[in-house]
Amino acid sequence: MTTNGTARMSIYSDLGLEPAINASGKMTALGGSVLAREVTEAMAAAGREHVVIADLMVEAGRWIAGVVGTEDACVSSGASSGVAIAVASLIAGTDKHLIQGLPGRVGRPFEVVIQKGHSVDFGAPITQMIALGGGQAVEAGSVNRVEVSDLRGAIGPDTAAVMFVQSHHTVHKGMVSLEETIRVAHERGIPVILDAAAEDDLQRWALSGADIVVFSGGKAIGGPTSGILCGSRELMTAARAQYAGIARPMKVGKEQVMGLIAALTLGGVSDTDARAEGEGQRARMQALATRLAEHPGIDAFVEQDDAGRQIFRTVFTVRPESGTTAPRVAAALASSHPPMYLRDNKAAAGQLALDPRPLSADEEIILLDRLDDILSAAAAA
Ligand SMILES: *Cc1c(COP(=O)(O)O)cnc(C)c1O
Repeated sequence: MTTNGTARMSIYSDLGLEPAINASGKMTALGGSVLAREVTEAMAAAGREHVVIADLMVEAGRWIAGVVGTEDACVSSGASSGVAIAVASLIAGTDKHLIQGLPGRVGRPFEVVIQKGHSVDFGAPITQMIALGGGQAVEAGSVNRVEVSDLRGAIGPDTAAVMFVQSHHTVHKGMVSLEETIRVAHERGIPVILDAAAEDDLQRWALSGADIVVFSGGKAIGGPTSGILCGSRELMTAARAQYAGIARPMKVGKEQVMGLIAALTLGGVSDTDARAEGEGQRARMQALATRLAEHPGIDAFVEQDDAGRQIFRTVFTVRPESGTTAPRVAAALASSHPPMYLRDNKAAAGQLALDPRPLSADEEIILLDRLDDILSAAAAA
């Protein structure tokens, strides 16, 4: 049973599951993105034919590089494998003996310096992705404060790379900026890996000066489960070479490669695309905020993403006068039929948010009706 009494048709019903309504963001735990028809059609077409995978990887990389503005690119199964492959490439290059010696020590520099406030867990720890690539994370500074001198001090003879994480997951205050990080690393001849997994302005990050930039294909790009590494021809040749080593169990299928390209064809890769989409979201989210604020004890407003992306969310605060709490509202939604998820990373502070990106117009109505019911029931109790 769903809220409105009619079961939604779903492929997942075959397994006894209900499709979830996702207003939390591009969450891997909820299946990343809903794919556009163009993307699923490309994946289906790719699945019906054979292709020489080594050639596909080279040509797809070349095509993607044309979109993001770098010399070359390499497709991965996700941003997390992208990080492992980037580390492996910088340790082993294209030397097959070294490639196949990873993730063990191969007699090459292997340390990856990362600011302590960037040492995040996005569902798994980034330090573990570094280790899978044969590296070892060396954390610089403290969680809330890293100085240029901490970064300089952490770089030594065994340093293979400096890693920078551009993400809403990281600490945003007291860290060394990307520009400074690149300057400090390059002064010492050390390459920089930039994990920009969920960012929407691909060109901006791809051309930031970092040597290898990693994106998730399933987040802002709206593609299938996949990832992108981009950078110089030499480094991307090394990245592809890792598929004879640690990247083999992280391999990406022809369907994902072609689905990713189809998603990139649909746009969302420039600042202009992101801004246009952001403006549409702002209007939608304002309407939701106005409706939620009609409930007693609920303050609602529209807020831009705190990592500065062109994402506008409805944020609402659940005050005691509402008769309920933010965690209870989130729990009630999650146990509804269908299950519904809000952005709840600030629930302990009384705040919940709705992310417009993964939410269709129909789902928005179902979610808002259910929220109205939950809040009205709490106020009446
Ligand atoms: C999501 C995320 C990843 C992992 O991306 P996948 O494509 O799911 O592998 C890595 N780094 C950061 C900062 C992320 O947010």
